[in-house]
Amino acid sequence: MKLSTSFIAVALAFSSAASASASEVQERGILDNLKPLVSSTGLQLLTTKLTLLAHARQFLKFSQLSDGTRAFGSKGHNATVNYIKTLLDATRYYDTELQTFPYLFSSGEATFAVDNSAVESQWFTYGPAGDITAQIVPVANLGCDAADYPAEVEGKIAFISRGTCEFGLKVALAGAAKAAGAIIYNNQPAAVNGGTLGAPERPEVGPYVPVASISGDSAKTILDQIAAGATLTGALHVDATTETRYTSNVIATTKGGDKNNIVFAGGHTDSVPAGPGINDDGSGTITILDIALRLPLFKVNNAVRFGFWTAEEFGLVGSEHYVTSLPAEEAQKIALYLNFDMVASPNYGYFIYDGDGSAFNLTGPAGSDHIEKTFEDFFKSKKVISAPTEFSGRSDYGPFLDVGIPAGGLFTGAEGKKTAEEAKWWGGEAGVDYDICYHKKCDDLSNLNTEAWVLNSKAAAHSIATYARSLNGIPRTKKASVANNRVAALSYDDRRHYSCGHKIESS
Ligand SMILES: [Zn+2]
Repeated sequence: MKLSTSFIAVALAFSSAASASASEVQERGILDNLKPLVSSTGLQLLTTKLTLLAHARQFLKFSQLSDGTRAFGSKGHNATVNYIKTLLDATRYYDTELQTFPYLFSSGEATFAVDNSAVESQWFTYGPAGDITAQIVPVANLGCDAADYPAEVEGKIAFISRGTCEFGLKVALAGAAKAAGAIIYNNQPAAVNGGTLGAPERPEVGPYVPVASISGDSAKTILDQIAAGATLTGALHVDATTETRYTSNVIATTKGGDKNNIVFAGGHTDSVPAGPGINDDGSGTITILDIALRLPLFKVNNAVRFGFWTAEEFGLVGSEHYVTSLPAEEAQKIALYLNFDMVASPNYGYFIYDGDGSAFNLTGPAGSDHIEKTFEDFFKSKKVISAPTEFSGRSDYGPFLDVGIPAGGLFTGAEGKKTAEEAKWWGGEAGVDYDICYHKKCDDLSNLNTEAWVLNSKAAAHSIATYARSLNGIPRTKKASVANNRVAALSYDDRRHYSCGHKIESS
């Protein structure tokens, strides 16, 4: 906090005008012209782990306002948004905007016990709250058809296998059969990892009932006992809140620079309900915030815009809202979009979005290849190996790709495992997740690798400075039709069931 305030003080000294009278605006314009043109080395200077960590400590404090989370609509998230807006406003270098809109929030927990012995279980997004103690009644087939539900399921707990149709349909069919609750068990030995009913309600089928998922292994024990003639009593307890909450993106655009050629950088400000999200995506958010607070020391040729997105974890909601409410002629002014989502993973890799499609065969709009190369050149200049990561649109750059805006970005890895070769390149532990605290409570200050964070922050500064000076290599003709983008072949619905590259199961 201390360091960042001093940056603002420096920036303010440059800008000087305390109120915006006409002569002072003119004066500020003259002063801005005296500033040096932004450069890669200039904007990389003063990137320190002390500054980055000072912001991260603030984010962690904000999460403590709402029980350890910065999920959208929580006090912790609102405090994050206010913090960013206040710091940016204080520079007087940006026109800032809070883009506020309503969205359905859903969070909960489930516990399940059979004849008083606890069975590990998980809640489904949009699953209603409730307390049920009743007999467990297996449902025929995969529970995708009303006829699969026997009459005796009424008032009992419907026991349903995963498979073929959506979770939400099964739960609504259980409700239509007047079941008191439902358990969906995995069709594989492991647990269902993160599940959603997909839609907030399905009145055309039936009412949702309280529901939890359990592993295939746990289900086998239960089904074997029932098959042997036992009558089992299940106790299902679901705590859940589903309600409309207002939430905001923060958009900040430099007052200076060519606004017909905007260089756009973004990251998401929300975490998952399960944790404080200090790496995901505190790290990316703070990376661009820190750059945004240093940029006022310079002048820019092209305008720079920062987007701090809300509700990414509910399916790219904030960035999608921004892009879909943008008039076509405004979208045309955006030259490119740079995304920073998870850039300080503890067992990190230096991954760059594969915008040219060379590694994963998903190519972005023309110019995405140039962005990838700009990042590659940066890592080469630092004698650090980098590797491509799939350009799937499964973070906030997805909506930008949909309207033909070239994009790129950095990523240090989530739940994937580091390979032996990668451990040779980057150190760390092979066979271990890049981020063992991904989407968990332990995604806190100790979950940050500051060496990776500082280098990625410099890479981000390099890309922003490079394009704020010149858009050479980025096509500025009319955007190509979306149909020409390989990435657009992935449906939005497919993408929105991801958050930070992590699949949220819906069936
Ligand atoms: Zn993320």
